[in-house]
Amino acid sequence: MIYPRIALIGLGLIASSIIRAAERGRLAGEIRGYDLSDEARATAREIGLGDVICDSAEEAVAEADLVILAVPVGAMGAVAEKIAPHLKPGAVLSDVGSVKGSVLAAVGPYVPEGVHFIPAHPLAGTEHSGPRAGFAELFDNRWCLIVPAGETDSQALEGLKAFWEGMGAHVDEMDPEHHDLVLAVTSHTPHLIAYTMVGVADDLRRVTDSEVIKYSAAGFRDFTRIAASDPTMWRDVFLSNKQATLEILQRFTEELFRLQRAIRRDDGDLLHDYFTRTRAIRRSIIEAGQDTDAPDFGRGAVRK
Ligand code: NAP
Repeated sequence: MIYPRIALIGLGLIASSIIRAAERGRLAGEIRGYDLSDEARATAREIGLGDVICDSAEEAVAEADLVILAVPVGAMGAVAEKIAPHLKPGAVLSDVGSVKGSVLAAVGPYVPEGVHFIPAHPLAGTEHSGPRAGFAELFDNRWCLIVPAGETDSQALEGLKAFWEGMGAHVDEMDPEHHDLVLAVTSHTPHLIAYTMVGVADDLRRVTDSEVIKYSAAGFRDFTRIAASDPTMWRDVFLSNKQATLEILQRFTEELFRLQRAIRRDDGDLLHDYFTRTRAIRRSIIEAGQDTDAPDFGRGAVRK
């Protein structure tokens, strides 16, 4: 056991996975949870998530040794303000937000003296949300980035690292600005592109809706999985990581124009070289153990 009592605020995909993984690794003596939504709290109780589902955030965090904020990025500040007076001295306050600069700015001012604020971000997720979406294996072999907010107590930091490792994750440290740029490349911009592609197909009436759905395995299907991600979460991500996302989108647009020109000018060499380079990136992801090399991501045939 690493912490006698932990509390999760926001009982969605990430919090419910943390609860399942912490139970699997026996990392906490008692697990408490709270969600603003009556429905989420009722579901959490029904499926036996954690030990106690509380009716207030204050009650959930009281006496907790580790408190993790697992709400959309735009709600982090309001939650921190509410729970701050009820945090135990010496407790670790962390979060799982997909953007770090904005969370540091929103939560930092409310952190009481004697509470260790250590932001984190597990690089793991699915397109599902809510308390039923969580599973113990979500963080296995995935990275969790710890983004310490300035001078950080080393014992508190080691404890949080051990907690994430106990849930199956690999842990790295990163500064907030770099984190937000890396994530703009690896996650935020790809999501925006997927949202756009699915939106384009929806708008293009020359291809009928049924054709788009029926022939989706040609590539479109993989965009639709990403574009089915939670609208609130992703709205907050783009509004909170504006600068880095816009920078990467600018580069993306320039590349897109370059490829567009190559197609128009029949520049097959450029296209071939480009696709050879991108294929090598896929290979490195597989070699790093971050995806399967089974054809079609290991999906079997889709049955009706
Ligand atoms: P989720 O499944 O939508 O869950 C979020 C939960 O928080 C919802 O039940 C929501 O209730 C609740 N909530 C919203 N405002 C709240 C408040 N003020 N107080 C208490 N509860 C509140 O989302 P998630 O995917 O677990 O994401 C949670 C966090 O993890 C986000 O910051 C996200 O950026 C980050 N993250 C997500 C992923 C991913 O792939 N999903 C990966 C890594 C990190 P309502 O539904 O009623 O609003």
